[in-house]
Amino acid sequence: MTPRDPDCLFCKIVAGEIPGEVVHETETTLAFRDIQPQAPTHVLVVPKAHHPNAVATAQADPSLLVDVVLAAGRVAEQEGLVERGYRLVSNTGQDAQQSVDHLHLHVVGGRAMQWPPG
Ligand code: C5P
Repeated sequence: MTPRDPDCLFCKIVAGEIPGEVVHETETTLAFRDIQPQAPTHVLVVPKAHHPNAVATAQADPSLLVDVVLAAGRVAEQEGLVERGYRLVSNTGQDAQQSVDHLHLHVVGGRAMQWPPG
């Protein structure tokens, strides 16, 4: 049984209880467009199971973290980002401004970016 947090926004999107613009799905992952895109392409890739962040996912189910990364790669291909490059971001905790405590990889691309991040 897939672990789920009844109060979690992304668990609700995975369950279809809140709409999301889904661009890719596998047995274990879902990818949907961010509602506040920060670049021409901004997609969130989540595991269907609830885990609070990337490290917790790796600890609980290492192959699931691989699934999420591979799904992000598929999204980057679908969105035509591979040639010019893209950013995978996983904000973790308060200082990083993580706002949803369900692992999500931001796939951000379609424009030149700056470093360091703000
Ligand atoms: O890394 P962080 O936790 O801040 O990212 C959460 C992301 O979820 C934000 O980019 C926000 O725009 C997005 N979001 C969304 N759909 C919602 C609520 C938040 O795409 N319903």
